[in-house]
Amino acid sequence: MLSLIYLIGSVTFIIGLKMLSNPATARRGNAIAAGGMTLAILGTIFLYRHHGQGLHNYGWIMAGLLIGGVVGLVSAKRVKMTAMPEMVSLFNGMGGACAALISVVEFEYMTAVIFTGAPVRMQLVIILAGMVIGAVSFAGSVIAWGKLNGSIKDISFKGQHIFNLVILAVILLLAIVVTVALPAATVILFVVILLLSLLYGVCFVLPIGGADMPVVISLLNSFTGVAAACGGFLYNNPVMLTGGILVGSAGTILTILMCKAMNRSLKNVLIGSFGGPKAAGASREQGAYKEITLSDTAVIMAYAQKVMIVPGYGLAVAQAQHACHELETLLEARGVEVKYAIHPVAGRMPGHMNVLLAEADVPYDKLLEMEQANGQFNTTDVVLVLGANDVVNPAAKTDPASPIYGMPILDVENARSVIVNKRSMKPGYAGIENDLFFQPKTSMLFGDAKQVLQQLVAEIVNSL
Ligand code: NDP
Repeated sequence: MLSLIYLIGSVTFIIGLKMLSNPATARRGNAIAAGGMTLAILGTIFLYRHHGQGLHNYGWIMAGLLIGGVVGLVSAKRVKMTAMPEMVSLFNGMGGACAALISVVEFEYMTAVIFTGAPVRMQLVIILAGMVIGAVSFAGSVIAWGKLNGSIKDISFKGQHIFNLVILAVILLLAIVVTVALPAATVILFVVILLLSLLYGVCFVLPIGGADMPVVISLLNSFTGVAAACGGFLYNNPVMLTGGILVGSAGTILTILMCKAMNRSLKNVLIGSFGGPKAAGASREQGAYKEITLSDTAVIMAYAQKVMIVPGYGLAVAQAQHACHELETLLEARGVEVKYAIHPVAGRMPGHMNVLLAEADVPYDKLLEMEQANGQFNTTDVVLVLGANDVVNPAAKTDPASPIYGMPILDVENARSVIVNKRSMKPGYAGIENDLFFQPKTSMLFGDAKQVLQQLVAEIVNSL
């Protein structure tokens, strides 16, 4: 019965993951996978038997489930859309911590009851792998969480990468010693490995900054998957194994895709300190920019044939997705063709703009991926940039000294005119100036995205 439940659980994960790849089915896919996970958890609690005996510590299990469930539910319900990436990062870290704790418990059990022999040694390797990877993922995700919410700054020092490599080498060496010596006398070494893994997680993420965070978050996510899969091996639990492997491989694929989207190699991301404090100093004299009024914007947009909206992190900050959809339907009713150009790293998490716009019921066929959108800018009359900055920065193409040089961007300057809405001339996430704002085709429309969009809608309805 339990095997059947595990099989159903594994199948729901695969179906759920497949459905997550399309916005139209993502919500249902998530619910199906969550249902399978619930079934697997309940099955394990009530049906698991070891030498004919079931679990006995129900009080602890239920208390843990209740506390964790309530904390998870309340924080997910309360979280603001803009804080979602931080929460995802933190929850991912909890998965890593969980895998590391499983390894700690299993190691303790091993030192207490088991002795020598090959199978034990193999188990020990898995225990160590789960603990190291889980601890790195936990510590790294907590740092990523702090960086995303601005409470932790990028910190790098000379020789940092060598320092990190040394920590990694020591961890490996100690792990070999523990495996060869086998548990009994190596508890202290085990604790040292745990502490070094936590330190490595911190040092690994600390220097990575600016525009590279999406890649790191996705990489940490795949680490958590691998650590959980180690737990699946240990317990011979197929559903844990499938879940872990799926997260590990999906996270790896996403990492590769993100690297491609930023036109960077993973090695470069991990040791390049791209967009970090040193690189961010690339600002220069920019000249003057011109402003546009709300009523002029309303006229230009209402009489355009084709408008492309470029959403960015600022749209999420302003929670302006509903107002944006309202403007889009209003323009379409007047015969204007409206599309959205979605950059793969716009916002603060993979798919951030898709999730945001889906929340406002923007039809999916209106969302163009970067390559598609870039093919259409030259036939676009007006581009409306809403709270986006780095993803439309031409320095990525033209300025080899820029820290974002090489990252593919949305070529908005190929359109007939560009209107940029943001609150000030402040830079975006990578901390660099944007030449686009100073180009003759570009006009700045200052203000909070939600207010500006609401006023634009009112202007078009009342005056045109
Ligand atoms: P940016 O962070 O480059 O720019 C956002 C802009 O929005 C800012 O310049 C800000 O200007 C403006 N803004 C903020 N609040 C408002 C508001 N209320 N109304 C109007 N405008 C507002 O965002 P992009 O989406 O262009 O680029 C994403 C960046 O984040 C990239 O560098 C990417 O690498 C990085 N990143 C992406 C992740 C991902 O997975 N997608 C994860 C982590 C980082 P002002 O203050 O003047 O209003």
